[in-house]
Amino acid sequence: MLTVSDTVKQKLGISEGGMGGRFLQGQVNESGLRTDLVKVLLEDERERLKIAQGHESEMLRNQHLGTLATAVKENLGTGIAALAAAAEEIKGSPGTKPPVAEPQPQVFECGQCHTKFSPPPGWTGEPLKCPNAACGREYSKEELLA
Ligand SMILES: [Zn+2]
Repeated sequence: MLTVSDTVKQKLGISEGGMGGRFLQGQVNESGLRTDLVKVLLEDERERLKIAQGHESEMLRNQHLGTLATAVKENLGTGIAALAAAAEEIKGSPGTKPPVAEPQPQVFECGQCHTKFSPPPGWTGEPLKCPNAACGREYSKEELLA
């Protein structure tokens, strides 16, 4: 036995009495049903398209990830080599640089002529002379850092 919902019954004109009425209603509802069917089909098609698009972007994403993974794999050797080289560089020069790196370049001021000067790069504390030729006062590390 078929169970038909009231809405469908109404649409089909089953519940309404009267031959003529049913016939007319049937006509109207037929086109109405068709519209509904088309709507449903369109909706279905749209849903299918959405899924297809979803799959496509998913595939593209996976493809992209694959490319990335390949790029990482290809560059990993170079990256490790660069890191190793950098590590060697740091390890290779323990004596020339102070153990605590100064992030900001130091600026000293000559107490005699007030000329400002910075230590040369890689300065490890040897006495520095005032760059002012007319002054030329020599400063020890202790004096400079005081
Ligand atoms: Zn000076």
